[in-house]
Parts: sequence; structure tokens; C-alpha cells
Amino acid sequence: MTPSDLAFDRQHIWHPYTSMTDPLPCYPVVAASGSRLQLSDGRQLVDGMSSWWAAIHGYNHPRLNQALQTQIGQMSHVMFGGITHPAAIALCRQLVGMTAEPLECVFLADSGSVAVEVAMKMALQYWQARGAKRQQFLTLRNGYHGDTFAAMSVCDPQNSMHSLYQGYLPSHHFADAPQCRFEDNWQPDDADSFTRLIEQHKNSLAAVILEPIVQGAGGMRFYHPGYLQRVRELCDQHGVLLIADEIATGFGRTGKLFACDHAGIAPDILCVGKALTGGTMTLSATLTTRAVAETISNGAAGCFMHGPTFMGNPLACAVASESLAMLAENHWPAQVAAIEQQLRAALLPLRDHPQVADARVLGAIGVIECRHPVNMAAIQQFFVEQGVWIRPFGRLIYLMPPYVIDAQALQQLTDAIIAALDRPALFQYQ
Ligand SMILES: *Cc1c(COP(=O)(O)O)cnc(C)c1O
Repeated sequence: MTPSDLAFDRQHIWHPYTSMTDPLPCYPVVAASGSRLQLSDGRQLVDGMSSWWAAIHGYNHPRLNQALQTQIGQMSHVMFGGITHPAAIALCRQLVGMTAEPLECVFLADSGSVAVEVAMKMALQYWQARGAKRQQFLTLRNGYHGDTFAAMSVCDPQNSMHSLYQGYLPSHHFADAPQCRFEDNWQPDDADSFTRLIEQHKNSLAAVILEPIVQGAGGMRFYHPGYLQRVRELCDQHGVLLIADEIATGFGRTGKLFACDHAGIAPDILCVGKALTGGTMTLSATLTTRAVAETISNGAAGCFMHGPTFMGNPLACAVASESLAMLAENHWPAQVAAIEQQLRAALLPLRDHPQVADARVLGAIGVIECRHPVNMAAIQQFFVEQGVWIRPFGRLIYLMPPYVIDAQALQQLTDAIIAALDRPALFQYQ
């Protein structure tokens, strides 16, 4: 990549959540393999992000590549209306087999946000088919569910974009974020705010939507399984559907195959995405129960009203199917447990560091919550100089490496964080 390529990028290409007039620098990556990214100048960076929860098996994996190549030789894409194909059937078989028993009908979509839109539309159509006017959702503060409009409307109202789009977003109900930590003793009063809201609004609620156990982009917080169990009980008691957004947590990241497994509960609707294709391309799925699917299908519309152009894209399905086959070989529990143990040993002692407000680890996720927001450009440059790719946001420096990372590379990541905490110039003070 030439300087003029990078100048073109700055001038013409949007990057996520970045200004077009004063963009933060972008680092040119030309290849990636295993748990390493390669910059255009030849430097290798240990990857601490799995490209936002996705690349669980590492990059450029020969089996994933082979699955793509084999599928390309057959067909890259074909419409899903009136047509089916082996890759979609294989993938949906695996998804139905590996998720909770009641989830047996799969809707394939293009991205996590669309999976959330689909889940919310399913809940709305379900109640419409039952002749009930239930159009509200109940969710948790500090949540994150994506960037499209319905998904945004259930993101945390403070940290997200509600004020920007005020008047345009439907307004829903927000329970206080759970405070009881994953490893603490369960405090039943933690669910008081949720209990009050569900009782108050039960007759207008289509569904509860939440991220089970790990609140991701809304703050990287891990809450107690008792909370999720209580939510399930209350949804059953009041006849409200439960949507679990496992787009970040699905496929082993938290130490269980799905985060709902920590609480031993099953949702009525489940969203998965991100790691579904092992980080190779975009694909998501929304699964629901036979009862929800049949009710929707018996409603006035006679069907579920959604159908993306690239629905069930064969390439994406083929590579997702291979990624799930690799998970089924069951190396991930030991890999995630080893990462968890090493992250705990390296990060939890940092709780005493003057720059650190909190440190927490769950599965293959390690979080340092700092006392001050990072200076993004400075800390990013520092990490690259240390040979690691770590992308903090706000006061959070966090790791979610590929499951295949080795102990030495993982130590390079945690060492880089420890070094950063001792450099005051990498943080902003006001
Ligand atoms: C990333 C994420 C989404 C949105 O997924 P996209 O593929 O970015 O649209 C939704 N929910 C959760 C919990 C996520 O982490």
C-alpha cells in the first residue's frame, strides 16, 4: 500500500465511528494468519480482538479456506426464494442441533444487526397473529444490539445514539443494568428494577431482549446467571417472549457454548452472528421455537415478512458449517479455559494499579476498565509499536483473542496492556 492509497482512504472511505474530517490513523493490514495480522511494512501484530469477536479459529485457516474454495467451485450464490441448497441445510442442521432444544426454526440473515431486526419483527408478528397489541420491548441499560434502527432503539439510551435520533426511534423500556457480578453471590434484589418494569408493562410487551451474561459494546460487563434465570421466570410468568442476543457471546467465547448455558435457560428467540463463520464473512441467524414460528405463519400475513437478497448465501453457509464442525470437535473448551486462566493471572492483579478502576475476566474475554478514557491515537500507536493489535474504547482496554492463540502470544498482549497502564500520556485527563 502506497502513501497515496492511505491518503485516498483518509479522503474517501468511512471507517467505523470515525470522523471524515479528522480521522484517526488507520493501519494497513495486507495479510493475516493464525493469531497474527501482517502490516504492509512487514510487521506482525498479535491479534487481541478476533476482529470483534469473530475470528475464533484464527485467520487464514486452511479448513475454512478449503470450505470456501469447494463451495466456490459449486456456486457462490443463488437466491433463497423458492430454492434451497446443501450448504444452508447442513448449517441449519448444525445450528438446530447445537442450540437449546426448543429452538428449531432458523432464519438466515446478513449481519448481527439484521438478526436483531428479524428477532424483534418475529416478536411483533407473533403477538399480532395472536390478536394482541404488544409493540413494546423491555431491555437492560448498558446493552448493545447493533446499529440499525430497531436494534438501536434497544441499545443503552445514554451511551448510544438515542439523543441523535430522538423523535425517530420508538421508545422502549430500560431496566437498570445488573450490578451483581458473575462471580459474586446472587442478590435477588438485583432484578428489582426489571421485575417492576415487566409487571408494569406486561400487557404491552412483545418481548424482553438482552445480551445474556456479557454486556459487550455497552460496557464489557459480566453479570450473574441468577439474573438471567429470574428474567426467564418472569417472562414465563407474564407470557412475554425472551430474545437472547448471543451475537457476541455465542460459540464458546464465555467458556460455555452459549452464554445462556451459564444459567441453564433457553430463550424463545436466539440471535447469533459474529463468530458464526469463524470470522471469514458476514452471516447471522435468528432461531426460534416451533410455537413462535407456527403462530407467525398462522397470522394474517401467512408468513414472516423478511427476505434479504443474499439470504442463505452458499459461501457464507459453507464456511459457517465448517467452522461449526471444527467447534464440534471440541478443542475450544480447553483452549478457552487456558486463555481464561492466563488472563486471570495476568490481569486480575492489576485491580490494584492506580490507573485501573476494575479488572475482570470471563472465558476468553479480559477487560481492564481504566480510571480515565484512553487517548485513542496515542494508545493505538503504542500497541502497534509493542507488536500487538488491541483496540480500546473509552475507558475500556479489552482482549478477546482467537481461541488458537498460544501462551506466549497471549502474554505479549497482556504485557502490552501492563506497559500501557504505566504511561500517563496514553490517557486523557480532565
Ligand atoms: C456486534 C453485535 C451486534 C451487531 O452485529 P453486526 O454484525 O455488527 O450488525 C448485535 N448485538 C451484539 C450483542 C453485538 O455484539
